[in-house]
Amino acid sequence: MGSPLVNLTTKLISLTKKQLEIIQDFDVRFESFQKHNEIANLFIETGEKLIRNTNQKLYEQFSEQKKLLEKEITFSLRFLSQEEAEEGKESELLSEEKEADKAVLQILETESAELWRNLKLLREGEVKYALEEFLEELGREKEELVKEQKINNYIETLLKGLAAIIEEEQRELELELSLLQQKCTFSYSEFNEFKKAELSTTLEMLDKNIKNLENLLKREQGRFINPYKVFTNQKYIVTKKILNFAKKGVITRAMVKEDLRSLNPIQAQEYLEQLLKHYEQFEQASVKYFYRFKHFFYVKSKGIEAKEKALNTATVANLRRQAKYDPLTQVANRRLANEILAERIWLALKQGGRISIFLIDVDYFKKINDEYGHRAGDIVLVQLASILNSFFAPPHDLVSRWGGEEFLVIFAPTTLPEEAEQHAEKIRGILGKEIKESISKHPEEDIGIADLKKDVQSGKKLITISGGVASIDLKPKRFPEKEDTQKIMAMLTQAADDKLYEAKRSGRNAIHSVRLEA
Ligand code: GH3
Ligand code: MG
Ligand code: MG
Repeated sequence: MGSPLVNLTTKLISLTKKQLEIIQDFDVRFESFQKHNEIANLFIETGEKLIRNTNQKLYEQFSEQKKLLEKEITFSLRFLSQEEAEEGKESELLSEEKEADKAVLQILETESAELWRNLKLLREGEVKYALEEFLEELGREKEELVKEQKINNYIETLLKGLAAIIEEEQRELELELSLLQQKCTFSYSEFNEFKKAELSTTLEMLDKNIKNLENLLKREQGRFINPYKVFTNQKYIVTKKILNFAKKGVITRAMVKEDLRSLNPIQAQEYLEQLLKHYEQFEQASVKYFYRFKHFFYVKSKGIEAKEKALNTATVANLRRQAKYDPLTQVANRRLANEILAERIWLALKQGGRISIFLIDVDYFKKINDEYGHRAGDIVLVQLASILNSFFAPPHDLVSRWGGEEFLVIFAPTTLPEEAEQHAEKIRGILGKEIKESISKHPEEDIGIADLKKDVQSGKKLITISGGVASIDLKPKRFPEKEDTQKIMAMLTQAADDKLYEAKRSGRNAIHSVRLEA
């Protein structure tokens, strides 16, 4: 039952093609008219100049333009009459097609009426439903046909309109031509007898006619463009459907199928093309965005990674330092001192050698805190550490904070016991002067510090240390054990501590020492 519809749509396609041809023809005609108009205007211009100033050169120009214009008009007339003949043929074709449409419509009507009658006699069931559905489809096809008939009627009106315009155009041109022929067939010798005023009026009239014609054509052009509306409407229906998809955000096979059912073949083709474009755009956009997101996350993750790495490195380095150095005085802490002492004792045990240590304690340190404040006490500790560091030779001599206001110096392995004792004695002797010097450079951060500075500089406050030096001479042992190292370490530090205690008891500001044998 699809064949009448196919026939009709084929006809519709051929008609729309004709519509296009008409529009194109009109363009050609309009172009030729414009050319003609240009020539006529030039002709008028030269004519006016000739009226004002009669000379041979202008007259020759005028005659030449007159010839050109006549040629152009003759050509236009020929073109128009040819058009008219073709126009006649076209309307004949159109009415044939209209007849065919009518016949199909009649067949459809009778057939469907017949089917509906038969359907009523059928029992309820599959066959009846199928037939009902089929008849409904037939009904829709009928609607399509009626619509197409309407379009055909419209095209017919347009074609008739076109014929009328052509006729009108032709009449105007003919009039123009006769005027020209009447008024422009004079020779130069006759020119002076020719009434200038008359020529002028004629030219004015000609000008007016041309302008009228131009306006008429322009106005009519609007009407001829109308067939485009038929296409635009078709396109509009399709575009609306596609936009609907975009609004819903989904496209299903069922939706497309449903849409295609309601479209004629031209619309369906347009629909599928738009759908494909829509899909391609969507695909391109998603691929683009996918890469953008990928790149965005890549850059983000790299940034985070780099930050984490930097943070980790900084934290690890910081933690490492914190684990081994005293935050207040920046010298090695007791842990590092223990590590290094153990290492050096082990080496001395293995190779045979001496180890000397020097335990320092600030005298009456509590008093400094009490009199000048804790901050002042801190400053004394910082300065003491700095003075010790400059006096000894780190890292060979290791200066460490052993705890509170106690410091431990581990002498370089080559140091002899007497050298260690002399060094200890020397630093004790110069400490007062050294502290005086360094504290004078210190800013007066609070009253306590200012007072301490004043008292140290005036000599009212003397800062002293007591110390214990212990040395041990180790015989080489082939395989020193960890316990050996620990034992010697404990012995050595205990001895230094004992000597320090001794020095304190002896009145402070003194160094006591001991040399051990293992
Ligand atoms: P002595 O001559 O017998 O050593 O007398 P002393 O006052 O120094 O006595 P002791 O060693 O018992 O006191 C040490 C004081 O050092 C106790 C504590 O408050 C103080 N101290 C320990 N660590 C710090 C510190 O980091 N900063 C300050 N300001 N004071 C500290
Ligand atoms: Mg102490
Ligand atoms: Mg003390």
